[in-house]
Amino acid sequence: EGDTKDFDREVKSVCPYCGVGCQISFKVKDDKIKYVEGIDGPANQNRLCVKGRFGFDYIAHPHRLTKPLIRREDAPAKGLNVDPGNLMTHFREATWDEALDAAANGLDRLRRDTGKRVAGFGSAKCSNEEAYLFQKLIRQGFGHNNVDHCTRLCHASSVAALMENVGSGAVTATFNEIENADVAIVIGCNPLENHPVAATYFKQFVKRGGKLIVMDPRSHGLKRFASHMLQFKPGGDVSMLNAIMNVIVEEGLYDQQYIEAYTENWPAMKEHLKDYPPEKMEEICGVDAELLRDAARTFATAKAGMIFWGMGVSQHIHGTDNSRCLISLALMTGQVGRPGTGLHPLRGQNNVQGASDAGMIPMFLPDYQSVMDDGVRSAFTEVWESGDFSSEKGLTVVEIMDAIHAGDIRGMYILGENPAMSDPDVDHARDALAMLEHLVVQDIFLTETANYADVILPSSAFAEKTGTVTNTNRQVQMGRPVVAPPGEAKEDWWIEVELAKRLGLNWSYTHPREIFDEMKKNMASLDNITWERLENAAVTYPSLSPEDPGQAIVFGDGFPRPEGRARFTPAAVIPPDELPDPEYPFVLITGRQLEHWHTGSMTRRATVLDAVEPEANCSMHPHSLRDLGLAAGDIVRLTTRRGSIRLLVRADRAVAKGNVFLPFAYVEAAANILTNAALDPYGKIPEFKFAAVKVEKDQDA
Ligand code: SF4
Repeated sequence: EGDTKDFDREVKSVCPYCGVGCQISFKVKDDKIKYVEGIDGPANQNRLCVKGRFGFDYIAHPHRLTKPLIRREDAPAKGLNVDPGNLMTHFREATWDEALDAAANGLDRLRRDTGKRVAGFGSAKCSNEEAYLFQKLIRQGFGHNNVDHCTRLCHASSVAALMENVGSGAVTATFNEIENADVAIVIGCNPLENHPVAATYFKQFVKRGGKLIVMDPRSHGLKRFASHMLQFKPGGDVSMLNAIMNVIVEEGLYDQQYIEAYTENWPAMKEHLKDYPPEKMEEICGVDAELLRDAARTFATAKAGMIFWGMGVSQHIHGTDNSRCLISLALMTGQVGRPGTGLHPLRGQNNVQGASDAGMIPMFLPDYQSVMDDGVRSAFTEVWESGDFSSEKGLTVVEIMDAIHAGDIRGMYILGENPAMSDPDVDHARDALAMLEHLVVQDIFLTETANYADVILPSSAFAEKTGTVTNTNRQVQMGRPVVAPPGEAKEDWWIEVELAKRLGLNWSYTHPREIFDEMKKNMASLDNITWERLENAAVTYPSLSPEDPGQAIVFGDGFPRPEGRARFTPAAVIPPDELPDPEYPFVLITGRQLEHWHTGSMTRRATVLDAVEPEANCSMHPHSLRDLGLAAGDIVRLTTRRGSIRLLVRADRAVAKGNVFLPFAYVEAAANILTNAALDPYGKIPEFKFAAVKVEKDQDA
């Protein structure tokens, strides 16, 4: 940290990485961030992980975009071919007026050309106000709902199941509630690496005697703290969870009183579970029947239990079914709505909860109000002082790429999202981006996606702007500008406003606070939450009065569903979309590493983080390596039906034999060249957690 007193001002804000939402004090000298410290935010109580502590110098990286850019007429064909240190081979600098006119004119031309629709991807890295403006721009400006963001790749299936069965897409309790729990299930997530500060609360829980049931195909670091480690086969989750619920039913461990008071469809659920005895399921899920029984008894007999889950649950074609099972497990044991109980999908991006709440999704307006509801749409058009927009659900992330290939979408506005790295079967997505007639990209770096842009609008990093964000706990917090944006870069909300004006919209916002005030008009979740309150402290929604800091636990007296009842939705076992075979015998599982964040655009430009993890890598069990005649440190080639990458292989006993774990932050060995774009039918989330893969020693190594 250096000299801890060597600063001339301090700014309190929020970490820009994960959904934990740690509060940070930035220490600034000569308008440069010198170092940071964790402060006493509700989610972190002074703690930070390595990304929050050391991951901020990307802000001052020489590759920051500092001027608007327009693609040169004589530029080479669009492709992943721009040198970030020498942009002028493909682009020319422009004034803001020129670039905004070019961006708007291209989109406007397509808007007027009937049927050639424009779509928008926004960012969960932006503020709530910027997310709200983004969805408003697409809906008001283009008349349809083709607006989405990375929630589609992350927890869309969890939200689909929660909306369906609980009536709300957010967590029912903050993760800090684990301090009041006796038992917790952590499934399909690796909080030590992906939500490290939340993981510190999990470890404290174990230290004071709490029982931790970890369920994951990888026996990752949390195993050391677990009372039960259920290392199930990839794709075996629904069979495992149904078996656990079967035990609870067969042994009469369910909470009859709670079920009668607060749920519906229990008889059907009970009947369904008869087909899933542990002895029958152990072969399918790979977990010993006795261990399943013991885990079931431990959870069902606890006074207070919580369930946490991550993308290991959601990123499957049966992702919604996985979440349905977790919801059913909590409901049948009455583990919702009291201290130490609850359902908590650990949200990924710093503001993916807020961006979803703000309506940056194709089927919902802000606060998850359906676009198909005439009354809802007219409430928004009244506030927006504009005509109606489509009642048809818009296309989702992967569907938009398919629609480009089909010629149905010809233009896109992409703000802070990087589909040229993050989409499944990414060569398909890159080809789609190259086919667009007009692509406007707004970002802080020349991302892989910006390589394909016609117009690039340089924007601000999180620490350069004002705006609110909402973390995984439903805590709304204020982000503050710490340093000025470089060169001519602007705040995202300003760019959105200028673009909207050029598309003929009557926007006149001069500060994010005005946007927040407009959001409150149609977002009941923000009742009693004001900009002034957020200037002083975080507020958890729902907040029941101007003095209420917010409800950490919700649904203690019923659910926002018909008759206040949550629903049991039975889930049957369906196989993964693509099974291993003799040609592709291994199972590929993609995920994150502690030091890198998503597509790497920030962390690979953060000196300390990139120094710790500088190289693309994958991990396999040592026995799998031995069977293939490989050794740790070899360069291997991974090949699926969609493509091939070469990278270093590590030995890791946490990865089960027959599996390959692959982080997705490295452009030089982009994991998503390999992944399968098959979608969960409800959440429309791709199956990032299962693909059949071949592993070979690289012949050029
Ligand atoms: Fe940032 Fe998440 Fe780490 Fe907290 S846990 S410092 S929010 S990356």
